Amino acid sequence: MIHHERLRPPSHDYPADEWNVIEKGFHPEFLAQLETMLALGNGYLGMRGCPEEGGPNAENTTLINGFYETRPIVYPEDAYGFAKVGQTIIGVTDSKIIKLFVDDEPFWLPNANLLSYDRRLNMKSGTLDREILWGMPTGKQVLITSRRLVSFANRHVAAISYQVTLLNAAASLVISSEMAANEPRTVIDANDPRQTRFFAGRVLHPRASYAKDQRIVLCHATEKSRLTLACATDHLLETACPHAHKVAKAEDFGQVAITIEALPDSPIRLTKYMVYHTSQRASAEELCGRAEWTMDRMMTQGFQELLASQEQYMDDFWRRSDVRVKDIREERTKRSTVEIQQAIRFNLFHILQASARAEDAGVPAKGLTGQAYEGHYFWDSEIYLLPFLIYTSPRIAKNLLTFRYKMLPQARARARQLGHRGAMFPWRTISGEEASAYYAAGTAQYHINADIMYALRKYVQATGDEPFLRDCGAEMLVETARLWLSLGFYSEAKEGRFCINSVTGPDEYNTVVNNNAYTNLMARENLRYAAETVQSLQTKYPDSYNALVQKTALEPSEVEAWVRAVESMYVPYDEKLQIIPQDDSFLDREPWDFQNTPSDRYPLLLFYHPLNIYRKQVIKQADVVLAMFLLGNAFPTEAKKLNFEFYDPLTTGDSSLSSCVEAIIAAEVGDVDKAIRYGMAALLMDLADVGGNVKDGCHIASMGGTWMMLAYGLGGMRDDDGALSFWPRRAPEDNAMLRFPVTYRGQMLEVEIGQEKVEYALRGGECLLIRHETEEIQLTPEQPVAVRPVSRW
Ligand code: BGC
Repeated sequence: MIHHERLRPPSHDYPADEWNVIEKGFHPEFLAQLETMLALGNGYLGMRGCPEEGGPNAENTTLINGFYETRPIVYPEDAYGFAKVGQTIIGVTDSKIIKLFVDDEPFWLPNANLLSYDRRLNMKSGTLDREILWGMPTGKQVLITSRRLVSFANRHVAAISYQVTLLNAAASLVISSEMAANEPRTVIDANDPRQTRFFAGRVLHPRASYAKDQRIVLCHATEKSRLTLACATDHLLETACPHAHKVAKAEDFGQVAITIEALPDSPIRLTKYMVYHTSQRASAEELCGRAEWTMDRMMTQGFQELLASQEQYMDDFWRRSDVRVKDIREERTKRSTVEIQQAIRFNLFHILQASARAEDAGVPAKGLTGQAYEGHYFWDSEIYLLPFLIYTSPRIAKNLLTFRYKMLPQARARARQLGHRGAMFPWRTISGEEASAYYAAGTAQYHINADIMYALRKYVQATGDEPFLRDCGAEMLVETARLWLSLGFYSEAKEGRFCINSVTGPDEYNTVVNNNAYTNLMARENLRYAAETVQSLQTKYPDSYNALVQKTALEPSEVEAWVRAVESMYVPYDEKLQIIPQDDSFLDREPWDFQNTPSDRYPLLLFYHPLNIYRKQVIKQADVVLAMFLLGNAFPTEAKKLNFEFYDPLTTGDSSLSSCVEAIIAAEVGDVDKAIRYGMAALLMDLADVGGNVKDGCHIASMGGTWMMLAYGLGGMRDDDGALSFWPRRAPEDNAMLRFPVTYRGQMLEVEIGQEKVEYALRGGECLLIRHETEEIQLTPEQPVAVRPVSRW
């Protein structure tokens, strides 16, 4: 089912542009959405796209990945093993505020007479740029320009270059640069369970605050999670106009107020540097010291150098990751090529912003663009984000997998608590502990264990990083394989097949079911990969094998048991419908009454009691269809077609994780119309607010899904048999061109799919063997090979 775009901005105020997301007029009704869309981040530090002067929206949030506070989860009816401690990302000291007063009049967007207005997320330079001409009632004209960045090169740093020029008169100005902690927050919609929880009272407890000239340092700590944060700001003013400044600071507030006698046409430039350091171990004094070192360096370096390093980082990112399109037929997609190019880059840019410097952390479902889902890490990273990162930024992919590895101790403890062997990764978490308060749609999603191992395998195959597999991956494989074996059993009722009962698959509208097909299929892959890896270590790397045995007390008989479970894994099949039932009871359920469900009652989870939903045949997001994409080799196209045709009408797409997957399978089974409609919904999920909740943050998983749609769906990339192959897909009458780079085993391959030919070019490296459909191609650097595509739609 396809939802409709909700953001219908006047297109003259939001013109399409290949490299920028542009806002040409101030529309308060889109403010919250734009705060999300224009957010900046580097995976460690995130700043929502609020105007410098703050407000008018309340969510003036700055976030740090993994900086959270805990709270007890209170269950009116508690039970053994329920997660007890909630973890919630918290807004940290907001340092980006710069208020402007001209002749004592505050510059405030909702009241200002805006003679011109231009704000843009500049995806080429990695900055948020603004230029406003303010016409004051006195006739004075004030030009305000700003450029903000959150640095990729130095993850602790953000900066704003802010310039004011009085165009036609002199005036008295005050520029008040501020920082504030513990600002009150408002919950926008208390009935939406996906929103974050806010703590009553102060969450950040003051530990230090001091000022030195125009530098202010505020240090706070959380009470229960025991995290400490130091935030420093410093300033450089460049102007020929007479000026003076005053500094004020309190525990939660810092201000440098600069008074200036502005002369006409004489620019006043303030550069504000913002530094954040966080730690679980360091003392307040130590953290303040670290913040000051970083600040000293930034002040010496200057804004231009910081900007240059940002642009260089972006150049490098786009060289490895940019997906380019040409000549899209607008009558099909209802969007111009420029709009589609913009949407593609917007999605990829936000993935980078969510993950680039997530070191010792995961990627929250909303990245650092909003607090919904409490800043938690889900399976979204492994299944939706990692493919893009593995094939464009393998270093980031490795960071994320390493972070999972570091969670093993908690995952082992959780498995023991639930009476299982091995390790059980949390469904949602920041610290590594399970933080899901609703087990049916949370903890029961055991499939996350197999999802992580699926991503591990993709990573190892694409990078050849065998050392990571030996040192970290193998241990996770052993523990997850053990989990499956202790969770499932050989069922007499199912002719001795290996069954896994009482789990929830990706579809959260059918919970705690027996033999969810997705789970069984993915668990089988997990077990198979574990057995293969252990066997190959034993023969090829005895030292690593011995170390693994030491770490995990592995018995040889365990591997045999995994192999047996693989061979006996039960995968439901319905002879009559010739489909894979989603679980043992799915087909027994009464179909949902879609006809009498008004379109404003979606997502169903906000309007119906879970019991109403659970007893019906209705699906939140792709489940069997997802398995058919992830394990594409295991299913013939005809099976994909039959399953897609059965499940698609029952799938609400109430989760943003659905459309991209539906689009890929629709393309594969030849349903061009649906492929395009789902594809556009996924591509525009955030730019056009398809789900209606962009104000709460970007849908990072869906953004990753758009890359999968392009590379796997249209590019027909396949990597599930240990080699890289392409089955490009295009409509016969289309002239469109798609070009994307893929990093494979340290070499960069560029794929260009056009009407007449498909071209493969190796950029650097030595040589690479790939497959085009069934033909093998040996590539050498800078000697592109062109082949004629076989039309497959
Ligand atoms: C989806 C989950 C997803 C979560 C966070 C939920 O609505 O059903 O699959 O992990 O959102 O994105």
